[in-house]
Amino acid sequence: MSGDLNTSEFDLIRHYFAAAKTASDVVLGIGDDAAIVRANPALDWVVTTDTLIAGVHFPDSATAADIAHKTLAVNVSDIAAMAATPRYATLALSLPKLDHQWLQEFSRTLHQQLALHSISLIGGDTTRSAVLSLTLTLIGEVERGKAVRRDAAQPGDVIAVTGTLGDAGLGLALALGQCQLDDKATTDYFLARLHRPLARANAAAILRDYAHAAIDISDGFWQDLGHVLNRSQCGASLELDKLPISTALRNAVTAHEALDYALYAGDDYELLFTAPAQHWSAVQSQFAGIGLMVTAVGVITAEPGLRACHDGQPFAGQRNGYDHFI
Ligand code: ADP
Ligand code: MG
Repeated sequence: MSGDLNTSEFDLIRHYFAAAKTASDVVLGIGDDAAIVRANPALDWVVTTDTLIAGVHFPDSATAADIAHKTLAVNVSDIAAMAATPRYATLALSLPKLDHQWLQEFSRTLHQQLALHSISLIGGDTTRSAVLSLTLTLIGEVERGKAVRRDAAQPGDVIAVTGTLGDAGLGLALALGQCQLDDKATTDYFLARLHRPLARANAAAILRDYAHAAIDISDGFWQDLGHVLNRSQCGASLELDKLPISTALRNAVTAHEALDYALYAGDDYELLFTAPAQHWSAVQSQFAGIGLMVTAVGVITAEPGLRACHDGQPFAGQRNGYDHFI
C-alpha cells in the first residue's frame, strides 16, 4: 500500500480503516452509504459523514447558499439511500476568514434546508483553515432491520434509478469553463443541477418497502452500481438506451457525450436501487404517487461482472467514476 500512487480512495479505506473492531450493537460498519447502529430494540440509527472542500467538491463560483444546500443534500442523500429518515446533524466548519455576509447567506439556506427535512442541528465545530471545508454528520432513523444496504441485491432484481443522470456532470464542466452553452437559462439549469442537488428523501419509504439494495449516485452511475455488485457478489446486465437522460442534456451535447456524463459523472445524487421483478409495477406506481421519475435500466445477474448493450451492440465501460486519489 505505502507509496502506491494508484491506490484508490476505496483501497485506502479498506486497508487502513475497514478492520475497525465494532461493538455488537453496530449492525453495519464501514462500507455502505451509512453505518447502522441498533439504538434500541425497535429502532436503528443510520449515521453518515460527508466533507465538502472548496476547489474539490465545489468550484469558486459556488455561492454560500449553494454550499449550504449541497452540504446538507449530499448527506440527506446517503440517509435516503439507506431508506432511513434524517433526524440530527452536526456541522464542522473550517473557514479561511471571518466573513459575516458569507456566514449569513450560508446559515440562512442551511436553516431552510434543515427545516425542510425536519433535521435538528445539535452541534459541530468551528475552526480556521487555509481552505474552506465543511463536514456534516447526519443521523437518521429507521425501524429495526428495515435499512436498505448495498449488499443484498438478488439475481433477477430490476435495477432502477430515480430522476435523470448526467446533468450535474455537464454543470461541472460549465462551472469549470471547460465548455460553454449559448443560452444563459440552460447554463443556469445545469449549474443548479450541480450546486443544488435534490436529495431524494421522499423515496426512502418506497425503498424501505420494496428495495433489496440501494446506493446514492455520488461518484457516477457505473462506479456506484459497481459497489452494489461487489458487495452483493453478483453481476448486472444493462440496457444503456434506457438510461434516463434529460431533454436538456440531450439537446446540449452530442448523444455520445450525454451517455458519458450519465455513466461516469458524479454529483447527480439520484438513487440507484434493485427490487424484485414481481414488485416492479408496484414500485412504479409508488414513485408516480410522489411525482418522482423512476426508470428500469437493467437486471441483476448471478454471473459476476457488468454487461451492457447500447444501440444493440455490446458496450464496454472504460472509465471509472470519481476517485479522490486516482
Ligand atoms: P459515500 O460516497 O456513500 O459517502 P464513501 O465512498 O465516502 O461513501 O465511503 C465508503 C465507506 O467508507 C463508508 O462506509 C464510509 O463511512 C467509510 N469511510 C470513508 N472514510 C473513512 C475513514 N477515514 N475512516 C473510517 N471509515 C471511512
Ligand atoms: Mg453514498
